[in-house]
Order: sequence, then structure tokens, then C-alpha cells
Amino acid sequence: MIIILEKGVRDEQIEEIIKQAEDYGFSIHRSTGDEQILLGAIGIQSNFDTRKIKILEGVSAVYRVTEPFRLASRGYKKENTVINIGDVILGANEIITIAGPCAVESEKQIMTIAKIVKDAGAKILRGGAFKPRTSPYSFQGMEEEGLILLRKAGDEFGLAVITEVMDPTRVELIYKYTDIFQLGSRNMQNFPLLRELGRVDKPVMIKRGMSATIDEWLMAAEYILASGNENVMVCERGIRTFETSTRNTFDLSAIPVIHQRSHLPIIADPSHATGIRDKVIPMALAAVAAGTDGLMVEVHHDPSSAMSDGPQSLLPEQFKELMSQVRRIAEVIGRNA
Ligand code: PEP
Ligand code: MN
Repeated sequence: MIIILEKGVRDEQIEEIIKQAEDYGFSIHRSTGDEQILLGAIGIQSNFDTRKIKILEGVSAVYRVTEPFRLASRGYKKENTVINIGDVILGANEIITIAGPCAVESEKQIMTIAKIVKDAGAKILRGGAFKPRTSPYSFQGMEEEGLILLRKAGDEFGLAVITEVMDPTRVELIYKYTDIFQLGSRNMQNFPLLRELGRVDKPVMIKRGMSATIDEWLMAAEYILASGNENVMVCERGIRTFETSTRNTFDLSAIPVIHQRSHLPIIADPSHATGIRDKVIPMALAAVAAGTDGLMVEVHHDPSSAMSDGPQSLLPEQFKELMSQVRRIAEVIGRNA
């Protein structure tokens, strides 16, 4: 932590700041310039609240040098986290595509879509069985029946599966059917759920909360890592901004920022990020160019009859086209897909 002192700070104020910081466990190194005095404070605890120093008289600013999250940080682990899901390797050179409907709606629907996405080259099948809907009157998901169908489709077409868990009491049930747990945006800071997912031995994908900073998002990952589950990936799915032309604003720069600050793989979800079918392909390609480790894309064979997120679901032909373009961009940046 770097403590910048106010110009004209008095000696007794400096002594008090140093004493307080030492009482908090820091060792202090003082640098005196012509105009400014800086204190370098070594030994920060990851949960130290820097405001404790910021409020002291004579302090102008305080900057953390180490990340507030430890296990999720690049400083803690230099090499990328690679997650194995059966024979799917996520976080290595290959860009992995997760595709499928927003929600599992029927056996026919999930089987049809599983075949489409498998044929086009997807490796993981998505489909919600417990849906976090804004309106209590909207379709809430098929629950366990949906999980059974998702698993059946995954097994039939040789796809791993991912589905959302909204509630800590459902972890055990969903565990029986899924390969990866999806933690939805609306639950990014559901701390009991994060802790529960830290205790399972299956990977977890944490979607970024709609108004979450990257620090908060990685702190959510830290919860799972600190509870013992190392197989964590994060998913950029757009954030709320003042812009209304798209459903959310796709924070593309989150991809290189995550790669710089963390060793965890990142997945890009241009479907929820844009909310409009014709914006999904360009943003998916941009995410690949920006270095994403995977894509999550909603696909539906009959989007006009979809029970949720039809307008942002790609048609089968569009998904096929997307996959072929992803391969071309991947090649340019020295990856494969
Ligand atoms: C979803 O993936 O269908 C979903 C509900 O996503 P999010 O949590 O990003 O809104
Ligand atoms: Mn959806």
C-alpha cells in the first residue's frame, strides 16, 4: 500500500500515521521528495480496509498495490488455470464454445438444439432448468425434469452440460446432472451460494453481476476458491450502463483485464450482453479477437416460440456461420477453435 501525505503535513501527523499503520501490522518505508512524502506500507492483509489510513489527518491518498483478492490473482498463480471437463479442456489454447437454448423447454427442443450445436462444433450444451426471471409470471424452468433432459441430450450427443443454480439448497440436486454449475448474474454476490459452490468438486462459471466491478466479480471468485474449489471460470455477459440500444453493454475490455489480473479462464456471452440476435455474431468475434477462452451463445431452432430469450437466440444457420468465423479469427491470433 502506498500512502501519499498532504503537502505541508506536520511531523507529529506523520508520526501518528506511521504509528497507526505499524499498529495495523505494516512495516513502513518513508520516501521524502522535494514536494511530497510517500510512505510505502508493506504487509497488507487482503481484507484490510484502506479507508482506515485514508481518514487519518495528513493523508492525501492511499493506493493498494496488491489485489484485494489473493487466490484469484495473477500474482498468486502465474500460469493460467486450465479446467478439464471430461475431454474438454478450458483455459488452454482452444477456444471452447458453450451453446444451447436459454431454457430447456421439452425433450424434442433440447435434443434438436443439442444436435445442431454439436454438428457445428460446440463442446458444451447449455440450458436452464431453474430460470431467474424478472417477472414471477414468466416461465420459471422445468426444474428437475429439465435437468434430466439436459443430461440426456448431453450424453446422447457427447456434449458436457452447464446449467444455472440459483439457490444453495439445489446444489445437491443439480450436482447429479450437470458437469458445470452456472452462477447467474443476479446471484454473483449470493454469498451462501458461493460458499456452497466452493465445496463441490465440479467447475463453476461465475457470470458477472450487471453492476459489478471487475474487483467485485473476482472477489466472488475468491469466495469459491477460498472454500476449496479451484475450478472457477468467469463469464462477461454485459453490464448495465446508460446505453439502451442493446440489452446490456458488452464490456469487451474485461477480457484482457481479467487475463492480466487473474489466472482464471474467461468466457464471453454476447447473447445476454447484446440481447439482439444480429449483434451476437459481431460481438462474439470481437471477444475471440480480444482473447476470450470460450464463448457462451444462445441458440434455438425456433426462436419465435422460445419460452425465454428468443430474440437473442441465434438460428441454426447463424450458429454454424459463427463457428466457422470463430475458427478463422482463432487462427489469426494463434489459437484454435
Ligand atoms: C442465462 O444464461 O440464461 C442467464 C440468465 O444469464 P445471466 O445470469 O447472465 O442473465
Ligand atoms: Mn438467457
